[in-house]
Amino acid sequence: MELESNPVVVLHACLGVGHLIPMVELAKLFLRRGISVVIAVPTPPANTGDFFSSSGSAVATLAAANPSISFHHLPPPDYPSPDPDPFMQMLDVLRLTVPSLLAFIRSLPPVAALVLDLFCVETLDAAAETSVPAYLYYTSCAGDLAAFLHLPHYFATTEGNFKDIGKGLLHFPGVPPIPASDMPHTVLDRATRACAARIRHYARIPEARGVLINTFEWLEARAVRALREGACVPDRRTPQVYCIGPLIVNGEAAAKGERHACLSWLDAQPERSVVFLCFGSLGAVSAAQLKEIARGLEKSGHRFLWVVRSPPEDPTKFFLPRPEPDLDALLPEGFLERTRDRGLVLKMWAPQVEVLRHAATGVFMTHCGWNSVLEGTSAGIPMLCWPQYAEQRLNKVFVVDELKVGVVMEGYDEELVKAEEVEKKVSLVMESEEGEKLRERLALAKEKAAEALADNGSSLMAFSEFLKDLKLSE
Ligand code: UDP
Repeated sequence: MELESNPVVVLHACLGVGHLIPMVELAKLFLRRGISVVIAVPTPPANTGDFFSSSGSAVATLAAANPSISFHHLPPPDYPSPDPDPFMQMLDVLRLTVPSLLAFIRSLPPVAALVLDLFCVETLDAAAETSVPAYLYYTSCAGDLAAFLHLPHYFATTEGNFKDIGKGLLHFPGVPPIPASDMPHTVLDRATRACAARIRHYARIPEARGVLINTFEWLEARAVRALREGACVPDRRTPQVYCIGPLIVNGEAAAKGERHACLSWLDAQPERSVVFLCFGSLGAVSAAQLKEIARGLEKSGHRFLWVVRSPPEDPTKFFLPRPEPDLDALLPEGFLERTRDRGLVLKMWAPQVEVLRHAATGVFMTHCGWNSVLEGTSAGIPMLCWPQYAEQRLNKVFVVDELKVGVVMEGYDEELVKAEEVEKKVSLVMESEEGEKLRERLALAKEKAAEALADNGSSLMAFSEFLKDLKLSE
């Protein structure tokens, strides 16, 4: 990789599609301002199969699709005894990668800033050693950040575990009441190592000079205000926050004429008539659940475009690569034939952003990964919220109770979401007055998202402010 002698910004990425995509979008923002940027990605050691197994191909795909962006592959660290817990394994690899990132920074022309994924927070040590200003890039919502920043204080001043509070409500600054059971599973039990590691990460966030958040002010005004006022971190300084989103893929592939067949199928459907179901890059529902969804869709009578993945063998290992689904074996007998005229099932992957922007799409059943929420909001599509892993339950609380751009799929926290619930919620959004109100709210949110990214919009202004802080702009 050739870098010019201009100052360069180094983005330290965590592996994982939902983290890499917004990192690439951030890199484009720098390039558009004429600022050199490089994305440094960790390389997992050969003995850490599990957690990272699908990430290498994600990096390769993104790099091939974005030739103007430099990727630097950091060498795999020595990790003789991988932790048996895959989550801890990921954190270990990122921490052990810090020395090679440090060497990389030293090899470059002046580095204007380091921008770190939250999982790479230990890289703050490399920034301190080199005196390079360090910023975090938070790729989920401001609401999550407000809650997470508050957790070290909360844990220091309370006892007990979220897992024992169940649906009891937590009251944190800047966010609506959160059922304790909707907190990420890694913080449900403070006796676990994962919980200790996460709290340590959250406690280190204030060491950053600023935090870029992939959101826009209008959408999360209350959480952003609480962050700015320092209400989330009562005893320390809160870094400056810059809401620079929504940074989402802009569907360039479609514009270049590489159109996915499902978009032609959508062309033939009436406006706002299709239910789009897609559960992120890892979608993790069981075989029984797939059948239940199919029954619900069939009963609803509505058109649908459904991305199906093979169920994970072990639901706690949803991140492992899985084979292509055998649709005939997984879906109810005769389902594909009976719904042939009004439904399309895709294996593994859909061009989500293009689908959401298509005029035929009417509702989005989503797992509430933050990229998906931003993509749905920016396209003005109401969401049916079915959280599955990571911080998605927390996102669901905000999407439904605060942003009011979606409704919840009841049963998401039980063994099955019933077919009747699928039918009921699809009908609610597609046919009822409540659905109409939701669409009006989404139309406004779509407008506000576009405004935020327009010249002089809040997000581009925030990015300019950030560049001024870096002395990369007047
Ligand atoms: N995505 C896609 N097609 C799919 C599944 C996912 O394009 O079939 C994209 C989606 O548009 C989003 C990203 O992958 O940009 C998933 O990120 P998100 O934060 O929603 O969820 P995660 O995969 O991290 O759980």
